[in-house]
Amino acid sequence: MRNFTDSLSILIAQSSLLRANVNHSKKQMTQQAVRVRFAPSPTGGLHIGGVRTALYNYLLAKKLGGKMLLRIEDTDQTRFVSGAEEYIIEALSWVGITIDEGVGVGGPHEPYRQSERKEIYQKYSQQLLDEDKAYYAFDTSEELDAMRQTFESQGSAFQYNAITRLKLSNSLTLSPEDLKAKLDAGVPYVIRLKIPAKDEVRFKDLIRDWVHVHTSTLDDKVLMKSDGMPTYHLANVVDDHLMEISHVIRGEEWLPSAPMHVLLYRAFGWESTMPQFAHLPLLLKPEGNGKLSKRDGDLGGFPIFPLEWTNPDGSKAKGFREEGYLKEAMVNFLVLLGWNPGTEQELFSMEELIETFTLERINKSGAKFDINKAKWFNQQYLKNYPDEDLARMYLPNYETDTALKIVHLFKERVTFPQEIGEEATALFATPETYDEAIVAAKWNDDAKRGITAFKDALPSIENFLAEDIKHTLHEELEKLGIKMGKIMQMLRVALTGAGAGPDLMLSMEIIGKKEVIARLEKAILQLTVIS
Ligand code: GLU
Repeated sequence: MRNFTDSLSILIAQSSLLRANVNHSKKQMTQQAVRVRFAPSPTGGLHIGGVRTALYNYLLAKKLGGKMLLRIEDTDQTRFVSGAEEYIIEALSWVGITIDEGVGVGGPHEPYRQSERKEIYQKYSQQLLDEDKAYYAFDTSEELDAMRQTFESQGSAFQYNAITRLKLSNSLTLSPEDLKAKLDAGVPYVIRLKIPAKDEVRFKDLIRDWVHVHTSTLDDKVLMKSDGMPTYHLANVVDDHLMEISHVIRGEEWLPSAPMHVLLYRAFGWESTMPQFAHLPLLLKPEGNGKLSKRDGDLGGFPIFPLEWTNPDGSKAKGFREEGYLKEAMVNFLVLLGWNPGTEQELFSMEELIETFTLERINKSGAKFDINKAKWFNQQYLKNYPDEDLARMYLPNYETDTALKIVHLFKERVTFPQEIGEEATALFATPETYDEAIVAAKWNDDAKRGITAFKDALPSIENFLAEDIKHTLHEELEKLGIKMGKIMQMLRVALTGAGAGPDLMLSMEIIGKKEVIARLEKAILQLTVIS
């Protein structure tokens, strides 16, 4: 016979199994389709952190067979910058993030630009007014400033909240007649959310776990502004609800707003279908102290925008694309800023990321923006980039065969593809000067004899190919009994002016017989005069 504790533990185990099953099926029943959104405000060039946010959203959507939305949050007319929306769309498409629904694509919840959804927000704010969950507030900014000062002089901070609202000018303190008179007279007002005095907001962030906030610490946030436009908070919550968003994945800077958003969902009666939140870690300065800023980019000489951005005043900010970062490298670099695969793998294609990505592996702590890592990724992807494409894109003025050879010669030596073009130009320029230190150390009799003999043998090479050139060099040096290693660097200096560079035989093949002979003649002459 089992004893009592045994049966009790079995009972507990069974009941929790039962509960787990119930929870499971409940979850399945209510499980929403995965719908995520990237919701930028068109206030200027999209910060690179925004691209990472979009990328994480996209990866989750693709992984779970969901939809990725693009919503433009342009309700703050004072911060609107024209061209920013187009820029955002171009930046996302550059890195390969495709939008399923939203601005530029359309979809069942049109319009996706918040400035075109004014009536919707008006309707929902009216609902909250009618249900006594929001109220009109007429306080002018001067009055609120005065309030703030009074509080400050008493050593505390002013909040428009359950206590102070009763002493301010709003529909909770005005008589119905006065309220009507003000509204009729068109006195400007805002609509504020009536945050409960004593309540707790509790939600589970997928990255930060449970977040608890007491409502006494929150103030009655403005939902509708005096210009008739909603604030970010109202528009964001209403749209996430109407657009059936399942996961809100956004930057950590929005975490302080989240409790208030939860209260809004509650006020609307939408809490049970509220999206899940995931607040992403900050991007930190390269040294790791503090948030990455535009200034860090200027100081470190690197962009913080995906594409070049032209400010309204005509000034330009660098873009990763224009600097020569490949989109594959960008994606790979960005995804690892705050997420890790849990393995040693470093290089991921977009398809592999879609397969591997999980929100669980996003870190809580900020990620250092190490630009050297971005460069390293660029080199890795550049190495594997098809030669034909690089030749076509970066060496359009060269004959195809030569262009391919140049690409082959340089692509593993450079960080950015456009450097291949720069290197090519340098390769075809006859040197004007020769590395002095190397000349001083190595321009000796053997070098002079060996290089001269080599030069004299060159005209007899029929196919001027690296292999044959090398063979000729060997032969000539052997005849003279000079060791190859003794004169190689000097030969390079004679040909290019510099002591180091890419494969010399291939370089000669590309430069061509006539030019190689001419350069060697010039060098022998000039160096003999010097020494
Ligand atoms: N419009 C906000 C932004 O510019 C969106 C924040 C959110 O995703 O909720 O970042």
